Order: sequence, then structure tokens, then C-alpha cells
Amino acid sequence: DNFRKLGVSEEVLEALRAKGFEAPSPIQALTIPKLLEGAVDLIGQAQTGTGKTAAFGIPVIELCEGGGKKPQALILSPTRELSIQIAEELNSLKGKRKLRIAPFYGGQMIEIQLQRLRDGIDVVIGTPGRIMDLMERGKLDFSELKFAVLDEADEMLDMGFVEDIEKILGATNSDKRMLMFSATMPPEILKIAERFMRSYETVRA
Ligand code: AMP
Repeated sequence: DNFRKLGVSEEVLEALRAKGFEAPSPIQALTIPKLLEGAVDLIGQAQTGTGKTAAFGIPVIELCEGGGKKPQALILSPTRELSIQIAEELNSLKGKRKLRIAPFYGGQMIEIQLQRLRDGIDVVIGTPGRIMDLMERGKLDFSELKFAVLDEADEMLDMGFVEDIEKILGATNSDKRMLMFSATMPPEILKIAERFMRSYETVRA
């Protein structure tokens, strides 16, 4: 099995070769074709280390166009470290695509982040607290998203981010596609899914 068969573009295949990814991991093989083909929302039950970042990152890169006025994808993650890691992984997967991808998290000087937003951003990755803050300052507009992704959703709930997440998702356009990844599936996760997702598929790997 290879990435080409999953429908990945030449540009991203080249980036995957440069990264040394030879074959898709199980979660990637399950999710990438589903997301590239159809309009499904998706819950992925997957631990860290399974390749889940590229599982949602590749479709996000393939389906977002760069250079617009508003962000096309929002990825929420529980920590600063994970936000930085996701941004690095997506930036290394985008190849020659002109997508502006950056992390936003508490602790970094907000001025730097505000400047980055003034320069324009296509894929926003960040912790719920900082994303809420930037949204409430009127600096982030999520009315034209193609994707909203909750990564490590169970961790974010454990850390008490549920209200922020609900507020952020409540401010997004309803015709986006929503993806949620979580190692465990407590009832709160399914509650968020019922509230914010359309019909969704669940995959496990
Ligand atoms: P993740 O579960 O997304 O945190 O990924 C765990 C690690 O595996 C990261 O260092 C990825 O860069 C790497 N990785 C993800 N997918 C693949 C793949 N298909 N082949 C080789 N390495 C991969």
C-alpha cells in the first residue's frame, strides 16, 4: 500500500518522500481516502505515535487553498508543545503548496502572533485559551473554515477546555467538516460530536 493509492497529490508525495515516509500508517490508510473523497465528518480513535497528525494534516493540506483573507482550517490541541509539533509536521508535509500554517499558544508574546495574523494565515493551530483570546479580540474569523480539527480531544477536556472549545466551535461556519481525534472516547467527546458534527464516521487504529 502506498500514499499515491490513497489519492495524495504529486506535491505532497514529494514532501512525504523528503520526510522518509514510505507507507501510510493504519490510521492514515483509513482516514486519508475518506477525507479526500467525501464530505464526511470523522472521529478517529488513535493514540499518539500512530501518525494521526499526518492522517488529518494531509487532507487539510490537499483541500485548503492558500492566500485567502480568512483561515481555512483550525486545529485545536491541548498544549503548546503539541501545537508547535503539528505546525512543524504540516509545514514539512505541504511541499511546494503556498499555505501559511502557524501555531498560536499562551506564553508566546501576543504581539508576534498578532503580526502573523496581520500577514495572513491559512491554517491556524493552537491551544483553546489563546485561540479564544485572539477570537475575542476580533483577530481571528472562523466563518469560512473548510476544516475544524480537535486533536487529543480527551486531553483538552481533562484540562478544562470544554467551554472554550464550545465557544470557538460555536463561532465557526456550520458547513465546515469536523474531525476529532482522541485516544479514549468518554461520553463528553460524544456529546461534543452530537452537538457540533453532522453525520460522522468513526475509525480506530
Ligand atoms: P503522530 O502520531 O502524528 O504524532 O506521529 C508520530 C511520528 O511518526 C511522527 O514523528 C511522524 O512524523 C511519524 N510518522 C507519521 N506517519 C508516518 C509514516 N507514514 N511513516 C513514517 N513515519 C511517520
